[in-house]
Amino acid sequence: MESADLKLDGNALGGLLGEIFVSEMTVARSTCAACGAVREVGALAVYAQAPGTVVRCPGCDAVLLRIARGEGRIWLELRGVSCLELRTGS
Ligand SMILES: [Zn+2]
Repeated sequence: MESADLKLDGNALGGLLGEIFVSEMTVARSTCAACGAVREVGALAVYAQAPGTVVRCPGCDAVLLRIARGEGRIWLELRGVSCLELRTGS
């Protein structure tokens, strides 16, 4: 199976990130630490079949974030995101 066959878009993260953040996360804007591209989370490349969930920049393919869960815990690594802009509604 090719990796392109495994790729989803960032909207697949809505439920998982919704458990971590209170805001609607698919419309949050992330800045790629590698190339500086700014995109809504819903437009990112998601690989949910990896060990855990891996999210890559569609522009440069850098890993933006990783999410793993197990034993009643969620681990979130945001190393590849230099800025995450969340809407507050006010
Ligand atoms: Zn990038």
